[in-house]
Amino acid sequence: MYQQPSSPPLPIKGNVGGVGDFRSDTVTQPTDAMRQAMLAAPVGDDVYGEDPTVLALQARMIELTGHPAALFVASATMSNQLAARSHLTQPPHSVVCDHRAHMHTYEAGGVSFFTGASIIPVDPERYGARHLTAKAVGPNLCLDDDVHHAPTRLVCMENTMNGQVVPIENIRDVTRLARENGIATHLDGARLWNASTATGISLKEYCSHYDSVTLCLSKGLGCPVGSILVGSKQFIKKATHFRKMFGGGWRQAGILAAAAHYALDHNFPNLPNDHANAAFLAHGLASLGLELTRPADTNMVWVRAPFPASTLSNRLAEHGITVFSGDATELRFVVHLQITREHCEKVIDVVRDLVRTSEGVEKSR
Ligand SMILES: *Cc1c(COP(=O)(O)O)cnc(C)c1O
Repeated sequence: MYQQPSSPPLPIKGNVGGVGDFRSDTVTQPTDAMRQAMLAAPVGDDVYGEDPTVLALQARMIELTGHPAALFVASATMSNQLAARSHLTQPPHSVVCDHRAHMHTYEAGGVSFFTGASIIPVDPERYGARHLTAKAVGPNLCLDDDVHHAPTRLVCMENTMNGQVVPIENIRDVTRLARENGIATHLDGARLWNASTATGISLKEYCSHYDSVTLCLSKGLGCPVGSILVGSKQFIKKATHFRKMFGGGWRQAGILAAAAHYALDHNFPNLPNDHANAAFLAHGLASLGLELTRPADTNMVWVRAPFPASTLSNRLAEHGITVFSGDATELRFVVHLQITREHCEKVIDVVRDLVRTSEGVEKSR
């Protein structure tokens, strides 16, 4: 028979360390202090709406975002999909979003699967812009009642987009255009924390432009699991119903909500440190002749080296540093809670050596 251990297996030691994992901010690990906060959480049955730690988290997110209701869910993907499903009620319908949007490219085709909507992906560069503008969205909205078409019922934006801040003017213009045409708006703000930290524009101001917003707790904020969906009371009621249908009704989820409370208190205020480390890394790599392919607005540094991306990532791996290659030439470094200034310095040192040797190779040719 299973025997409860007589003394709990403490102290908790979960964190690896010593290596720099720059692949993503999803790799962040709950710190010992966060784990202690989780241990201490009062809990109840969240499907009954009785988990005090979850209820307090949702109340806190209502306060932070200015939306009337909030729902704690398992992932940002779940949050986005619940939002799409709750907004989109009656086919035929379509969704307009940036062609790079996570909801479109990295959620296993969920929007079409769950809602029957077709996606209209827009490349803003075709309209001379880095991010969605009214000029880019306008011609892609389906507004007529021609029986051949699927009327647009939802416009989605994402901020940050691959680590870049979407300008507030774009947000104002696109959401105004949608509103004027009776179209709902959703923000995939998985990393809105980073945008707000970088610009000083409050979460509340950003969120005020949209009917619903997703915020992720398990990236830069360092929680093991969890995201938040905010919107109107009626919308969140519907999303809660769909969450149950999707199998996402969870019980003593306060254990996880406690991590979120800890993250709001300690890790959200730490984001300027991540951004400073990213800027330091970007500056260091640029000064060695690497091309910064996108502005390092927040916690991501995208670079192109004068040699194959794999040469660089393999060399870094020899030093225990892991990165994600966008393609054959581009590398992405994501700075987060468990990346230190020393890790960034190490990357710069390895790249300096590599640049020197490859110049040596060039000369000897
Ligand atoms: C990571 C991410 C998601 C999905 O988050 P999960 O919690 O891994 O499901 C959604 N949108 C954006 C913009 C993201 O970066």
